[in-house]
Amino acid sequence: SSKIIEAINAPFDVEEYLLNIGTSIGISIYPNDGLESDTLTRHADIAMYHAKASGGGRNCFFDSEMNARIEYRLVMERDMYLALDQHQFQLHYQPQIDLSSGKMVAVEALIRWPHPQRGMISPAEFIPIAEDSGLIMQIGLWVLQRACRDIKTWLAEGHPRIKVAINLSLRQLQNPQLFAQIIDIIDETGIPPACLELELTESVMMENHDVTLDFMAQCRNFGINFSIDDFGTGYSSLSYLTKLPLDKIKIDRAFVKDIAKDSDANTIVSAIISMAKSLRLKIVAEGVETEEQLNYLKECGCDTVQGFYFSPAISYAMLTQMINP
Ligand code: C2E
Ligand code: CA
Ligand code: CA
Ligand code: CA
Repeated sequence: SSKIIEAINAPFDVEEYLLNIGTSIGISIYPNDGLESDTLTRHADIAMYHAKASGGGRNCFFDSEMNARIEYRLVMERDMYLALDQHQFQLHYQPQIDLSSGKMVAVEALIRWPHPQRGMISPAEFIPIAEDSGLIMQIGLWVLQRACRDIKTWLAEGHPRIKVAINLSLRQLQNPQLFAQIIDIIDETGIPPACLELELTESVMMENHDVTLDFMAQCRNFGINFSIDDFGTGYSSLSYLTKLPLDKIKIDRAFVKDIAKDSDANTIVSAIISMAKSLRLKIVAEGVETEEQLNYLKECGCDTVQGFYFSPAISYAMLTQMINP
């Protein structure tokens, strides 16, 4: 504790000081993890990356599972390149229902990957790998293009205007070209920018704060809306939210799931809704599966719901059929 006191008394930023002393150590042991020095070094390196990836500031022993995991990632990366090249990805849309009118007012675009050998692979599985490898840049661009082209067709077919929500990853936001790319796609398709809504998670918004704020302000000026995804799972404060150019909050599925089962979940859901209302933000509840959940959300004054109770994510063709059966 005397060291901490020293640090506090020292004429530099304590937080920066603490950040600098973080180290990650990877350990491999002869002869189990390798017989030669380069194998041992390579394996120690893999363990070190593992230590970093699990938060840093810790030691990690090599184990052979780490190798398997890395190989799996490499195969996935290669397959995602192929998938882009061979147009394997699909974009599905999950309806969001307005509770006062009972009508579909928006959809969330969710990527689907029917892998030619391994069947449907969940985005929860491949998006994180795409983020790590940087491939998310191309995949994200494809998603934006696909969505805007579908909006164009949708409007050309005479359907009423609809909002399409698109998920953005942190890595995409770190790309200084992103805003220009979005504008290009909007220009090329000629859709109204107000048809686009971008979803960012709480943690994405808090990371890279200034860059994110600039990006959001630019998009907002252009007429694009923002919603905060998975709300309640991060640590944003109320005062922080008021500083963001936000339109909507999406209550995370985890809270909706426990409605009527866990009184804490009920309290959290109703608190988020009344907080959002006082900040004049719209609210979407995610993952609504039961009538019970729906009724409670109505009671709390929730605007919009999304979930299997109404519909899972469906193809563009099915979406138009749902409107004009
Ligand atoms: P998310 O953005 O939180 O998307 C909502 C997820 O909840 C979707 O899973 C959706 O299918 C699922 N869901 C919707 N309603 C229900 C329900 O009533 N019950 C249950 N159990 N689940 C429901 P999905 O499509 O597997 O996507 C998982 C995650 O992958 C997404 O979570 C998002 O973080 C990411 N993702 C999906 N598409 C994209 C994309 O185009 N770009 C990026 N960057 N990420 C994406
Ligand atoms: Ca989302
Ligand atoms: Ca979500
Ligand atoms: Ca999520």
